[in-house]
Amino acid sequence: MIPYGKQDISKQDIEKVLKVLSSDMLTQGPIIPKFEQALAKYCKAKYAVAVSSGTAALHLAYIASEIGDNDIIWTTPNTFAATANAALYCGAKPDFIDINPNTYNISVEKLEEKLIQAKKDNKLPKAIIPVHFAGQAAELKKIDALSRKYGFAVIEDAAHAIGTKYKDGKYIGDCKYSNIAAFSFHPVKTITTGEGGAAVTNNKKTYKKLLMLRSHGIIKTDKMIEKYGQWHYQMQALGFNYRITDIQAALGISQLNRLNRFITKRRKIIRQYNEAFKNIQHLTIPYEKEKGNSAFHLYVLQINFKKIKKSRKQIMKKLAAQNIGTQVHYIPVYRHPYYKKLFGYDYKKYPATENYYKKALSIPLYPKMTDLQIEYVIEKIIEIFK
Ligand SMILES: *Cc1c(COP(=O)(O)O)cnc(C)c1O
Repeated sequence: MIPYGKQDISKQDIEKVLKVLSSDMLTQGPIIPKFEQALAKYCKAKYAVAVSSGTAALHLAYIASEIGDNDIIWTTPNTFAATANAALYCGAKPDFIDINPNTYNISVEKLEEKLIQAKKDNKLPKAIIPVHFAGQAAELKKIDALSRKYGFAVIEDAAHAIGTKYKDGKYIGDCKYSNIAAFSFHPVKTITTGEGGAAVTNNKKTYKKLLMLRSHGIIKTDKMIEKYGQWHYQMQALGFNYRITDIQAALGISQLNRLNRFITKRRKIIRQYNEAFKNIQHLTIPYEKEKGNSAFHLYVLQINFKKIKKSRKQIMKKLAAQNIGTQVHYIPVYRHPYYKKLFGYDYKKYPATENYYKKALSIPLYPKMTDLQIEYVIEKIIEIFK
């Protein structure tokens, strides 16, 4: 089976993990801070806090940004449910902005329209969470300008975008235009720690909060140790056990060292796909706003199923029978029964998302794909249109 996404684990990755397994500390040892420093350095952010998942990173990022009961946050509907779920964990209400029909990222024009209205209604959001969909950077500079005008926080859901540049030489995660960026290291993402995630920031206070919340809200300072002894610690907020392990962090360091090679390979596959699919009727290939800057987590085709008179279900089934895995990224969050029941969003407010969703199909993209597999996928996709 050629899945739509998959990890690439090398011998060296395994050796690094094994080394931790036979050491004294499996968790909260010396490897986690090393991973965090390497990650912060890669992104050019001041601080990184590694946690147990991308969802945990988002949750802590929201709390650290003081999102709480009855606050409103806005995000894109074209994302994994976790982006919005983390707001519900905080007691906040998520609302959605339609996407840009070219980039499939949050539409800045629609965002601005909604902000103007929200200001009149006195219902401005506490934060906006742009998602760098499929690895393509959202329009951070413009969103940042709006955040200054309307006073909301920007938290990046960067689960797809480690290694993406939003501008030449500037990496997602440098937090130039945001308070915090959250990454995921789930195996389908660009680098993996099994499960895992991280929040990066340039703000020292935010960093301290993230650290504390990751581990039950407990802190231990030199002052306390001096006063009470080495055993002392204090719980100062209601935190969580969102810790990552040293075992995972070792894999993370090793994967981070290989990230640039992963991206090169991903981009090579993308070039082959684009070349093969660019002139097929009723098929649209992904558009890249800043040529060469996206780390491409996903390769999403837009197929006009109506025009080719075949359903998505039919095509996915056929491809699966040919050992090609596909997926739909994403079911718009407002369409999920849980969200529908809670908030009853009006689909008509999201025409670009609806149009995109109807046509979306992600095909295999991962660094371990062989030339033979790439050619095979291309051949079978082209066959659909014959
Ligand atoms: C994967 C993903 C998450 C959640 O990350 P986990 O590590 O699976 O918790 C959040 N947002 C987006 C856009 C994702 O793709």
